Amino acid sequence: MNNSIAAIATASGTGGVAVIRISGNDALEIAKKMFGNDKAEFEPNRMYPGKICGDGFEDYGFMVFFRAPKSFTGEDVVEFHCHGGVQLAHGILSKAVALGARLAERGEFTRRAFLNGKLSLVAAEGVADMINAESLALVRAGGMLYFGKLSSEVQELQSRLKTLLASIAVRIDYPEEDEDGTDFAAINAELNELSGKISRLLESYKSGRKLKSGVTVAICGKPNAGKSSLLNAILGYDKAIVSDEAGTTRDAVEGEADIDGVRYNFIDTAGIRERAGTVESIGIERAKNIILSADVVLSVNDGNGFAELPENISGKILKVFNKCDVASPRDDCEIAVSAKTGEGLEELRRLISRSCVGEFAADKAYIVEERHYVALRRAAEALASAAENICVGTLDMISVDLKEAWEALGEITGETATEEIISTIFAKFCVGK
Ligand code: GDP
Repeated sequence: MNNSIAAIATASGTGGVAVIRISGNDALEIAKKMFGNDKAEFEPNRMYPGKICGDGFEDYGFMVFFRAPKSFTGEDVVEFHCHGGVQLAHGILSKAVALGARLAERGEFTRRAFLNGKLSLVAAEGVADMINAESLALVRAGGMLYFGKLSSEVQELQSRLKTLLASIAVRIDYPEEDEDGTDFAAINAELNELSGKISRLLESYKSGRKLKSGVTVAICGKPNAGKSSLLNAILGYDKAIVSDEAGTTRDAVEGEADIDGVRYNFIDTAGIRERAGTVESIGIERAKNIILSADVVLSVNDGNGFAELPENISGKILKVFNKCDVASPRDDCEIAVSAKTGEGLEELRRLISRSCVGEFAADKAYIVEERHYVALRRAAEALASAAENICVGTLDMISVDLKEAWEALGEITGETATEEIISTIFAKFCVGK
């Protein structure tokens, strides 16, 4: 069976350079036939200039060879860097296929890297997220998985669980050797520590999730408080209509802004007032729903009081005094701004960012994927059951719980991930990665 795969690694289209990548046992052999002199010896990791044979033509470019296992896939890999023409790159790829390589499937290079232990499943997901990112925030979220500490932290948890399992196995075999319960106490202490670490990771999902999916900020307040003006000022362009006439914004108007690399969707809700007309009432009802589901609510007050907001959202309200250029801020507002002059807007952005995503520390592990969160929850539940069994159960029961926790964590790193999970992850990739 021929195991060498080939693909164009660069995006389709014309450009300065296109890269064709071949990976597998025959990669070097195939490449040598395409690079003029098949007797030449190629040192790994060195760029060689020369003629590259395409299907019926020649190009001039570079060839570089990475010897297994020191390559992206962990196999022998060759890359041709040719001129960046669509037909040109396809012609070189066709030549590689004619010489025995097969066309790679989506994400097959990265899948091989994962299967050869070159990167964890978490890191592979990070690569996919970075490539597919539509905002800087998403690049950062992907980078957290790719470079981040999550893999190593989860691997450490798994290794400590294994040690714990081994010490429990000893106690099962020689119960009489722990008469004073010293080992039992140590097992209990270790369980508590592992649970604490998992809880901290689960907690990080609150901000990690927002890094990935963005943050929704609802701007609300009485008519004419300056909500539309504030939206426009934050976005830096006119999105909403600003008018002295109350009730002008009858439906939500929204716009996106990037703050410290995180994507925020600001929504200017309809003005909330009594005795509104029917059309406006529908807008108000929608505004309430937006407020309920938002991550942050800016309650804007221009001196004429706050709008009445739905109950149970006090934890996410930021009280903003607007029009500080013409009026003195109220004491009950956390920040004073002027949508007109821009005063206080920088501070408002900082406050919003701090209140909902906090400060991201590069050296900390964050959960940004729901899949990881679900697996960690399972691990946490299994550890909680183990802790309970320390009091009421048997050592065998604790063992079963710990194995369950280990398996749940293995879904994150990939050791116990099902074929379905793996296929779903690699389907997110493009061909050539
Ligand atoms: P909304 O109904 O809450 O959306 O309010 P608008 O944004 O339409 O603003 C109502 C009026 O207040 C308009 O005449 C704005 O020009 C004015 N306004 C909004 N923000 C400010 C501000 O910061 N300072 C001053 N002086 N006027 C403002």
